Amino acid sequence: MNGLDGAWTRRWIEAIAARVAARKSELTALDRAIGDGDHGENLDRGFQAVLGKLDSLDGEPTPGAVLKLVATTLISTVGGAAGPLYGTAFLKGAMAAGDREQLDAAALVEVLGAARDGIVARGKAEPNDKTMVDAWTPAVDAAAGAGDDVRAVLEAAASAAADGAIATEPLVAHKGRASYLGERAVGHRDPGAESSALMLRAAADTP
Ligand code: ADP
Ligand code: MG
Repeated sequence: MNGLDGAWTRRWIEAIAARVAARKSELTALDRAIGDGDHGENLDRGFQAVLGKLDSLDGEPTPGAVLKLVATTLISTVGGAAGPLYGTAFLKGAMAAGDREQLDAAALVEVLGAARDGIVARGKAEPNDKTMVDAWTPAVDAAAGAGDDVRAVLEAAASAAADGAIATEPLVAHKGRASYLGERAVGHRDPGAESSALMLRAAADTP
């Protein structure tokens, strides 16, 4: 494959839905430790709703059309902090993809960067605030340095996001519900950083 097409984008989203469903309790347990214990349920509800809508896309949708459907569905079905944040990420990603039929490495880096920028614009979190930004920012940086092979870009992003999620463990939170806990959040991984790493790992594993 030269670039990532709409069919690939659909397989990626289906992989996210499957992995979120499989790891729902784990994500919720992370959120129970430093939040309100709904992150896995929130995302599972959203991605199950996305699965139900994928067939409504006409013909051979572009990557941007798939991403836009994900965005609008997450915004309308996932509450809390993560719904609007992920909704914005997928919407900005869709806008960056535009009407391209395929995403090459450069376009993929643009899409990932736009998604991250959307999360930051919406949530105003900085690096090391112990949020999903701590998975996305290293992922985008690694993606941008990974060269012109899409598979290498996906692998770099997935691997950096996983490291970024682990690196939230020693942090005190400065945004979201976990910020009310002060030092008590230390030692726990941020649920949103973990679900972001899940999404990017699903991308790297999608053939
Ligand atoms: P809620 O906190 O409303 O229950 P979720 O549990 O679904 O929503 O999502 C919590 C996650 O959202 C956190 O783990 C964190 O990664 C992310 N988050 C919360 N606030 C922000 C923010 N301002 N910027 C970026 N991410 C945030
Ligand atoms: Mg929560």
